[in-house]
Amino acid sequence: MRWQAYHTPHSLDEALALLSEYAGAAQIVAGGTDLILDVQQGNHAAPQALVDVTTIRGLDQIVEEDGWIIVGAAVTHTTIEAHPRIRRYGAALAESCSVVGGPQVRNVATIGGNVAHALPAADGTIGLLALGAEVQVCTWNGVAVESTWQPLLSIFVGPGMNNLAPNQMISAFRFPAPGPHTGSAFDRIMRPQGVALPILGVAAQVTLDAAGARAVAAAIAVGPAGPIPFRALESEAILLAAPSLDDAAIDAAVAAAQGQAELRTSKHRASKAYRHEMLAVLLRRVLPRAIARARSWTTPAG
Ligand SMILES: Cc1cc2nc3c(=O)[nH]c(=O)nc-3n(C[C@H](O)[C@H](O)[C@H](O)COP(=O)(O)OP(=O)(O)OC[C@H]3O[C@@H](n4cnc5c(N)ncnc54)[C@H](O)[C@@H]3O)c2cc1C
Repeated sequence: MRWQAYHTPHSLDEALALLSEYAGAAQIVAGGTDLILDVQQGNHAAPQALVDVTTIRGLDQIVEEDGWIIVGAAVTHTTIEAHPRIRRYGAALAESCSVVGGPQVRNVATIGGNVAHALPAADGTIGLLALGAEVQVCTWNGVAVESTWQPLLSIFVGPGMNNLAPNQMISAFRFPAPGPHTGSAFDRIMRPQGVALPILGVAAQVTLDAAGARAVAAAIAVGPAGPIPFRALESEAILLAAPSLDDAAIDAAVAAAQGQAELRTSKHRASKAYRHEMLAVLLRRVLPRAIARARSWTTPAG
């Protein structure tokens, strides 16, 4: 590889000051499972320097604060998959991270890298999106770090493109600690010999009323279903308007998602027609699982 410097900063200030100094000639690296392959395969020019964000204190932590579950950008898929709180109260995220690559990939690959790489089918991203996640973007203003929470979708520009400037990075993600009667789930279809990205992935979260009949909140994320990760807003509206979450409501939500999603044929994965059919299959798996989890809700301990 051809970079000339490899930095291991211990704080956000240090990392962002370095990135600013290089003014675009340095690249952030976390697990390196996307970036290093991209450089090796010539899809990405070798940066002059790499700034490793996995050495930044606190970036590999999962904490619960003021009603939010906060996941540091350098948390690995393995950690998310095994985290009891996320398994129980953010199942869509735990399930989506649990299928990324194999164990070797999941042990080093991070949720921050998954999101920043900005592929519309990235599994962890689809899981986060269904949980209503926000992203924390940190900016070096020349003197100090400023950070803002913003909707996850706001950083995506197109396939493989985010809108982060050279003096910015992602430090964390957060999603609301779920209220009562909330459940989520994720599933995907992958070619048996497939590497890296699924044919299609779907995640959903629903919150039910106390009777467990009507949806009072719903979120459905699908990828790839357009140039950026996709929320099936019309399907969500149908679930919210339905008098009960029965087969008719799910059928209507499926039809709306199939109508709204921008599915396409990709050379190595699947045809548009196959993805159209699989969207129905996945929604009919994921929605009933999320609903069943919402119905069997128990209050989180501690
Ligand atoms: C064999 C294999 C199988 C895979 N299978 C899957 C799969 O099933 N599903 C899936 O979704 N992905 C898969 N991937 C892709 C990859 O592993 C994931 O996207 C992973 O989460 C990337 O994280 P990383 O830490 O390795 O990112 P890196 O490669 O270190 O970085 C990726 C990009 O994000 C940027 N970046 C990293 N961290 C930050 C940050 N904090 N702020 C701003 N920018 C940042 C980097 O500059 C780079 O542009 C696979 C990859 C391999 C090699």
